[in-house]
Amino acid sequence: MKSLVRPEALTVAAERKPEPADEGGEYLKVWHEKESLNGTPCDAFVIILRTSGCYWAHTRGCTMCGYARETLGREATEDEILSQVAKAMTHYRDEPYVKIYTSGSFLDPHEVPPAARLRVAKAFSGRARRLLFESLPEFVTPEAIDGVRKGFEGELEVALGLETTQDDVLQKAVTKVSTVEEYLGAARRLRDLQVLGKAYLLLKPPFLTERQAIEDTVLSIGKAKDLFQTISVNPVHIQGGTLVERLWRRELYRPPWLWSLREVLLRGKESVGDAVRLVSFPTSGGNPRGVHNCLTCDGRVLRAIERATLSQDFEPLRKVAECTCIERWRWENSLEYLAP
Ligand code: SF4
Ligand SMILES: [Zn+2]
Repeated sequence: MKSLVRPEALTVAAERKPEPADEGGEYLKVWHEKESLNGTPCDAFVIILRTSGCYWAHTRGCTMCGYARETLGREATEDEILSQVAKAMTHYRDEPYVKIYTSGSFLDPHEVPPAARLRVAKAFSGRARRLLFESLPEFVTPEAIDGVRKGFEGELEVALGLETTQDDVLQKAVTKVSTVEEYLGAARRLRDLQVLGKAYLLLKPPFLTERQAIEDTVLSIGKAKDLFQTISVNPVHIQGGTLVERLWRRELYRPPWLWSLREVLLRGKESVGDAVRLVSFPTSGGNPRGVHNCLTCDGRVLRAIERATLSQDFEPLRKVAECTCIERWRWENSLEYLAP
């Protein structure tokens, strides 16, 4: 694997850091999406709060992550977080599944002060059945989890951006701040605290060939399956202000093929069986910046992936009609490793 050009990563991080905002009372986005809870289809409500964001993103960050651009450029106060949530709640329709994102870690006290975390949890208690949020592993402590649990009487689910279970891929291609073992340790703590664990696995970080990327994610699903109740395969999409975007603009990177994602999901499902929910909600799917095929067959493959995600029945995805572009994908898979 070629190593990352470190000075370029630092420049990218410095350029995307926003100026400190004057006003911090507006949330970033809300939307509604399809999900499933314990095997039953349901609606989910998603909020993205504006906070200081992931501390690592401002230092160097991961090669594919541009969320730092959407942050406040400073820490949010407790009142600002509560104002954001109050405004977001006007769109809430009692969806049973609520996901709260912060472009970082909900459990980082510099992003969301503990008192605000408790009030956010209370706002959904008795209305939602499950509350999901994301965190870096070092913030997953019994104290932090208890602080949320005190306010919310339903199920808690914590998503960890594990990305891969291979340390060299995590350190050199994704450039995470934490090690694989730190993520797995956090997953064990979640299990001990009876909190649901969700792993994000990244399909095709830079510097891997398409075939290496497929094998990396299939291997990672097999290694993560005993510690997480849900595994979400996230194909890289080109976000602004990232090293991956620079590579893509120089034609040194192509987002993964949908055929690759299909192969990962089919092989992954064989490996996890019914014990783990294997899902994928690709961002920018069927678009040159996201996971895509030839752009004509993409719609039907994406629909088959969505159906498999929601139903956990992967047979229709296995049988989805192929397209002539699958030959090109196979051909590139077999030759790409020869490229310098
Ligand atoms: S992927 Fe996660 S850890 Fe990496 S910079 Fe983005 S938010 Fe931070
Ligand atoms: Zn096609």
